[in-house]
Formats: sequence, structure tokens, C-alpha cells
Amino acid sequence: MQIFETITGLHSCLGSKAHTIGLVPTMGALHQGHLSLIDRAKNETDLVVCSIFVNPTQFNDPSDLKNYPRTLEEDLKKLIAAGCDVVFIPSVHEMYEVNKDTLTLDLGTLATGMEGASRPGHFAGVVTVVNKLFRIVQPDNSYFGEKDFQQLAIIKYLVKQTGIKTQIKGCAIVREPDGLAMSSRNALLSVEERKEAPLIFKILRQVPEMAKNHTVKEVQNWVLQSINTSSILMVDYFDVVDAETLIRVSEWQNAASVRACIAVKAGRIRLLDNIAIF
Ligand code: AMP
Repeated sequence: MQIFETITGLHSCLGSKAHTIGLVPTMGALHQGHLSLIDRAKNETDLVVCSIFVNPTQFNDPSDLKNYPRTLEEDLKKLIAAGCDVVFIPSVHEMYEVNKDTLTLDLGTLATGMEGASRPGHFAGVVTVVNKLFRIVQPDNSYFGEKDFQQLAIIKYLVKQTGIKTQIKGCAIVREPDGLAMSSRNALLSVEERKEAPLIFKILRQVPEMAKNHTVKEVQNWVLQSINTSSILMVDYFDVVDAETLIRVSEWQNAASVRACIAVKAGRIRLLDNIAIF
């Protein structure tokens, strides 16, 4: 596995591009969810590039950025074991001073709700850094998790609007044995919080069945009530949205494909999850 910290170094390796490239952008603190993206990229492309970059511009909360888990040594071991070909670990200077690419994109309603409402400026930061990565790596395929469902929709929109030539591959959520969606932030949970966190998916997984004979409002009330009974968890939002536009639906049949998305606070940690209704 080759490791590069500079864009010039990376370019010398990607060279003439006589192969297909799969890009897996991450912020490190890698777990099985990230590795499932690497695995899929390996199956579908000739050369897998994983980037590890804790992007400051997508953090609206300075303490979240400061406390974000950083486990580079372990990450590299995991990537070698997973058969990753190239790791790109740029500094903030490399991504924002050496590389001056900027992008202002009106994300419209895709970014007004859910994470966009709870974390002002977050998606502008995501779009800026992912646009830079696409232009640096020029991947044939790029792999993103459905875990961050709103981010995935926004990246698809970014590609459509800018005409960048990469195929976006959405990958299924990988879960812990108790159902909790894997996340780098899970490592920051206290023992008590970690014990309580599986309640999120325990409730969420019942939503598709409930949707068959309850209204959206009824289901929303039930989810909020069921999770907020915990003294440790607090629902930030539970939104039922059109899976394409991310606009809220008030009736199940108002969209061709519907997704239920949730963010829950466990102490200072926010946990995200979502499920397809149909
Ligand atoms: P992050 O390092 O949190 O920025 O995540 C990097 C990529 O891994 C994003 O595309 C995430 O959606 C994806 N990812 C994170 N957790 C999971 C998971 N549990 N299952 C599948 N993909 C995930």
C-alpha cells in the first residue's frame, strides 16, 4: 500500500491512469463500515484510493472537531489488511492552501433540513472537500455510505451539477451485532450511552412495518416517544422524506421512494441512522 501526503506525490502514483480508480473518502477512525466501501471498491475497480482527512470546514462545532477520533496507525493497518492500494492523507495546508479549488453550490432544499438545519455550514464544507478530492483523484467510481443519507444525496447532486465524471456508489449501512449503525463517533460514547444506543435501530427497524397501517404523524410521535423515554437519548430530528429530493412527506404515498432519517443525541455525541420505507 502506498501512502501520500501531497497531491504531487499522489499524482505521480496515479500516473497515466491505464486503470480504473475507486475513491473512498473518509475522516479516518476506520471501522467495518468504511472497510465495506473499500471492499466494494476493490471488487469494482483496479486501484482503490482511500483518503483520510478530518475536514475542518465541515465541522460547525470546534469541540467536535477537536474531539474527533484520530487513529491513523490502526487505520493504516486496517487498510493494508483490506487490500487498499493507495492512501491519501493530506494536511489542511495541502487541501486548502496548496489546492485553492473552491466551489459554491446552491444545494437548495437538499441541505435545508435534517443535518443541514442542525449543523449550519456542514454541507458547504462537505461539498468543498469532496469536490477537491474528485478533481485531485479523478476517480471512475466513488463510494459513499447510506449511513449519511443526506450527504449521499448531496454528493449525487454535486456530480450532476458540476459534470464531474465519477459514478457515485451508495453502500448499505454496516451495523454492530446489536444493530447500532457503525460510526467513528461510537468510540466517544460512555459505557452507559453505548448500552442505550441500540434502542435507536430497535425502534427505527419497526418503522417500515408500522408505515403500513399508521400515518406519518403517528409514526413520528411513536418514534419520538419511544426513544425519548430513555434518560440518556434525545431525538434531534426524525424526518420522513422523499428519498430523492429529501423534502418531507406528510403521507407515505407522496413519493416514489421514502426514507426515514433520524439523529439522536447521546450526551454530546450525535448518532445518525436511517431506513428505507419503500
Ligand atoms: P466518515 O469517515 O464518517 O466521513 O465516513 C466515510 C464514509 O464511510 C462515508 O461515505 C460514510 O457514509 C461511510 N460510512 C460511515 N459509517 C458507515 C456505516 N456504518 N456503514 C456504511 N458506510 C459508512
